[in-house]
Amino acid sequence: MKLDILAIGVHPDDVELGCSGSIINEIKNGKKVGVLDLTQGELGSRGTIDTRYEEAAKAAMIMGVHLRENLKIRDGFFKNDEEHQMQLIKVIRKYQPEIIFANSLEDRHPDHGRAGKLIADSSFLSGLLKIETTDDQGKKLQAWKPKYVLHYIQDRYHEPDIIIDISSVFEKRMEAIKSYTTQFYNPGNEDDGPQTYISTPAFLESIIARARMIGKKIGVEYGEGFNTEKNIGLRSLDSLVQIET
Ligand SMILES: [Zn+2]
Repeated sequence: MKLDILAIGVHPDDVELGCSGSIINEIKNGKKVGVLDLTQGELGSRGTIDTRYEEAAKAAMIMGVHLRENLKIRDGFFKNDEEHQMQLIKVIRKYQPEIIFANSLEDRHPDHGRAGKLIADSSFLSGLLKIETTDDQGKKLQAWKPKYVLHYIQDRYHEPDIIIDISSVFEKRMEAIKSYTTQFYNPGNEDDGPQTYISTPAFLESIIARARMIGKKIGVEYGEGFNTEKNIGLRSLDSLVQIET
């Protein structure tokens, strides 16, 4: 299946926190979107690998994505090296996305920045003809270069290069995030493990505040911000949000 967008996150829940509004928006516009989680989030302080899979599947259903896969690389200790780049190149070539959503290049969790760079490097290398890859059946995979890699802003704030209006899908976005009942605040989940940075009510409130703050910059209620190393080109000015700010 060819995808329009492949949203990649190193931990199951990164994609929901960083770009689920944009995913839901694009699916509403008829685009095919898949999610790739790089690790199973096995080092998370709360919940288990199994609960994470259940939560990720529920969030995928809420977002309406066409597929969700897990690369099962090692949480916390993976490297941006040839072995991992080749694994990622195979997925990119298999699904041929025009756009990739990726972790931020710099964030609170060191995995996020390392994954952001791994995804960006793999997206570039995937376009090189002389890097040969085959799928699971031994069939040759053609080189494929996504047109844009957009890094979603997750925990640490970065000034966005592009902001997408997600106001009309905001409730659904929060629903997708709250699927991770062991990770984020949810009354009655005290037994899922110790309180962490992300399991308090304040964390969920900060997610809403962040989307409001980014949305305000373009005059809408809620927004998601992305950084890009490549300039964004518009086909026409019709795509501009034309609200006075
Ligand atoms: Zn994460």
